[in-house]
Amino acid sequence: VLMYVFLLFGPVQQLTGAAASFGQALPAAERILELAELEGEPGAGSQCSPDGTAGDTLVFGDVTFSYPGASVPTLVGLTCEFGPRGVHVIVGPSGAGKSTLLGLATRFRDATTGHIRLGDQDVRGLTPADVRKKVGLVDQESFVLEGGVAECLRYGSPGATEGDLWAALDHVHLGATVRARPGQLDAPVGLRGLGLSGGERQRLAIARALLREPSILVLDEAGSGLDAEGERLLNLILQEQGRLRTVIVVAHRLSTAVAADRVYLLAGGRLQAAGHHDDMMRISSQYAAMVSTQRAGLFAA
Ligand code: ADP
Ligand code: MG
Repeated sequence: VLMYVFLLFGPVQQLTGAAASFGQALPAAERILELAELEGEPGAGSQCSPDGTAGDTLVFGDVTFSYPGASVPTLVGLTCEFGPRGVHVIVGPSGAGKSTLLGLATRFRDATTGHIRLGDQDVRGLTPADVRKKVGLVDQESFVLEGGVAECLRYGSPGATEGDLWAALDHVHLGATVRARPGQLDAPVGLRGLGLSGGERQRLAIARALLREPSILVLDEAGSGLDAEGERLLNLILQEQGRLRTVIVVAHRLSTAVAADRVYLLAGGRLQAAGHHDDMMRISSQYAAMVSTQRAGLFAA
């Protein structure tokens, strides 16, 4: 059972415009500060089940969510279960509520009605920081900051050893790239350093999230921008991680959905259908239509 999820969420999207002149550094920096705050918490992480048990399961029970002041709910009667383990891919048109779902999963927002459980705990019984310790988010704003590789990776995990860093880089298939550069872990990730592609930056952001050993890894995939090799590697990493933890991905690429353990089609704030890609092609005409109208491997939004 493997699952992927890529996420976007409202508050960050709202910041994007304001942050554009900073090369998206602002949301990333805010995220980092938030991660840094988590470090001092006693016992945090000790309950993470290392081998995929109840703590790896994220359950939505009849969740409805309305943004403050909105006349219509963004999510309606959402009931679904992610995990334990596996790659879970959420697809759906733009505005379907995919990013909002992820915002609830990471407790940037709370359900208006219904419940969300992480393992056997209602997320409302956990602080947002505790939730984000267990649910590691990599979204489109998780761009790697300037500085050296080690510096970037250690945000949120200041105690990580060099061995930990190399292991994380190897998990995202960046180890060889970094080893080949002068300075290695000290090589700057910016334009004048490693000169990482968008896909490599995303993988570095995944490595950073993995250092925190989340029970659930949540990814919000950019709509495009990966070359064939980048796409192959990302799908491979998701598969590999899905054997270790629950992976939830908001995805735009057909190949990611095809390789998923389970695909969830969200439209109009409602879960329309869920299942393996092959089953979805049979049971959901809406999904089959999305697949048939995809262009160059990207779902039409
Ligand atoms: P998706 O990620 O599937 O494209 P979103 O979850 O971003 O969809 O958005 C779902 C709906 O919620 C859209 O109609 C969007 O306009 C609305 N929405 C998203 N963020 C906010 C917000 N911060 N405040 C009010 N409405 C929002
Ligand atoms: Mg979105």
